[in-house]
Amino acid sequence: MKKNNNLAGKQIAIIGGGPSGLFMLKKLIDADLQGISVRIFEKGNQLGAGMPYSSSGANDEHVTNVSANEIPELEQSIGEWIKQVHPHTLARFKIDLSHFHDYKVLPRLLFGEYLADQFALLAKKAANIGIDLQIFYNSQVADILDQPANKSVTVVLADNSSCAFDHLVLCSGHLWPKRHEDKIKGYYDSPYPPAKLKQILNHPVAIRGASLTAIDAMRTLARQHGSYRISDMGRLYYQLNDPKSEFKIVLHSREGLLPGVRFHLEDSILGKDSIFTPDEIKAIRKANEGFVPLNLAFEEKFLKPLSKQDPVFYQKIKDLPMEDFVDKVMELRERLGPFQLFRSEYKEAAQSIRRHQSVYWKELLCGLSYTLNYPAKYFSAEDMLRLKKKLMPLISLLIAFVPQSSAEELLALHDAGVLDLVAVGAESKVVPQQEGGIAYHYTNEQGEEKVVEYDTFVDCIGQQHLSFDDIPFPGLKEKGTIAPAKLQFRVQTLASSLLEENQDIEIGVDGQYYLKVPGLAINDYFQVVDKYLALNPRIYVMSVPFIGGYNPDYSGLDFCETAADQIVKSLVMLA
Ligand SMILES: Cc1cc2nc3c(=O)[nH]c(=O)nc-3n(C[C@H](O)[C@H](O)[C@H](O)COP(=O)(O)OP(=O)(O)OC[C@H]3O[C@@H](n4cnc5c(N)ncnc54)[C@H](O)[C@@H]3O)c2cc1C
Repeated sequence: MKKNNNLAGKQIAIIGGGPSGLFMLKKLIDADLQGISVRIFEKGNQLGAGMPYSSSGANDEHVTNVSANEIPELEQSIGEWIKQVHPHTLARFKIDLSHFHDYKVLPRLLFGEYLADQFALLAKKAANIGIDLQIFYNSQVADILDQPANKSVTVVLADNSSCAFDHLVLCSGHLWPKRHEDKIKGYYDSPYPPAKLKQILNHPVAIRGASLTAIDAMRTLARQHGSYRISDMGRLYYQLNDPKSEFKIVLHSREGLLPGVRFHLEDSILGKDSIFTPDEIKAIRKANEGFVPLNLAFEEKFLKPLSKQDPVFYQKIKDLPMEDFVDKVMELRERLGPFQLFRSEYKEAAQSIRRHQSVYWKELLCGLSYTLNYPAKYFSAEDMLRLKKKLMPLISLLIAFVPQSSAEELLALHDAGVLDLVAVGAESKVVPQQEGGIAYHYTNEQGEEKVVEYDTFVDCIGQQHLSFDDIPFPGLKEKGTIAPAKLQFRVQTLASSLLEENQDIEIGVDGQYYLKVPGLAINDYFQVVDKYLALNPRIYVMSVPFIGGYNPDYSGLDFCETAADQIVKSLVMLA
């Protein structure tokens, strides 16, 4: 008897066969859960690649922002796998095996093929250890109905067929709702799928956002209008195919800042090994009226390790409260022009990669962000407001980890006069025009009000944390199976003073003030909870856009692995 086979006979549904579904299957296999039945419902016809690593999210020119050595362990390492890739495929992605090493980022479509192959290997392994696995392709799940009386959960497919399960894990991943696209000419709610941007345009294109999603759009649009070459000095430069073309890309961001460039990461300090343990969280909450204070997390997971990793930098900032630390770092970023800063960060990153030495304060800050995911549901509303206002904007700049090749292209486009960046402040508005295109309303850095019209607009603010109402499974909402995520205020008088200016503050059934945060409420094991905070032992959610309120970190493959691990632990505990 294997130690975990008390789950034997249970039927588990995985909704979505992207990276989250892949890690879910892997963790079920790792736990040796022989005798269980697993059914995977995938709306597309491919497993593993998900949205970012398939044609839904990438063309040949798009690259990952993590290198092979940073990818959580699967059946084969990338180094092993790449040796079996067909030479035509390697040529298509310009991969020279004699120069391939683990510190390289990969074309996203090639990485998708790697993930698909890992899925196939895992499917075989599942059969070998006695897991009854069936995969349903082209099977879109339209609704999910919890049946507490039967202790089951029903999956309803788009063709109205249905099937009942003991447990269900929602791995449906990214969602890019269309609001104006297809209705307003030249308006794109996201740059995905990027094939739609393969157009020749003879006018400036407005992009909202200046981070990785904007860079995805930039890489596609630039290739339609010109080409990159290497100068005699070894520098990348860009030339328009038609020198008279009016095409250019205008990025718009709040502060007029560009994201940070990828540097060498020392995985061991990225936070994965230093997340708060459940016992630590329990002790912290006990000492703090049920909350996990943000200041404590900042001290424990950023300042303390920084004192060891970079004592010189630590000495400069050790006495600053979190807000002042962010102001200091932002002030340094704002002092240089965005492209000048970007160029100097590109050089710093190149040195970090050459020396295999991290830029510790940046890596620790990204690690802190990862660490905060788990206790965020125990933050006070006040701390969540501080996190969103101060720390998250800085972290989101750094965590982008712009790959070197994207950084070089961005600089080449700017040098060629084809790429600009405009600071539009927090109050800007994009107004779609009935006749096509948009009008961008903003106040510039000199305080002047501007309205600039564009024929083409691509919204590139990235995957948003979706609201409770955006969750596309009506049965979960109508039956009260899921509840909106919210956080309690620690100082109730503060909440009442903020009530007028913040629409997200509400009074709960217990008479206490709460802050509504995006998406649905989950517990530490990603189980949904209802409005009475009762956990649901059947339904788990690891679709990042729906749990952003309690999971504020920008997700990645490492998140897929950690979440899947927690879910399998919970399933084993329930059995
Ligand atoms: C453009 C982009 C680039 C990224 N690059 C990186 C990177 O380089 N490195 C990194 O670590 N992270 C990156 N990320 C983060 C990325 O979110 C995760 O790596 C990963 O894609 C999350 O996987 P997922 O399975 O949760 O979601 P997805 O990748 O969105 O996959 C979800 C799957 O579920 C299926 N599905 C959805 N709804 C249904 C339904 N109703 N019924 C049936 N099937 C359904 C979809 O077809 C899809 O196959 C990137 C994200 C984006 C958006």
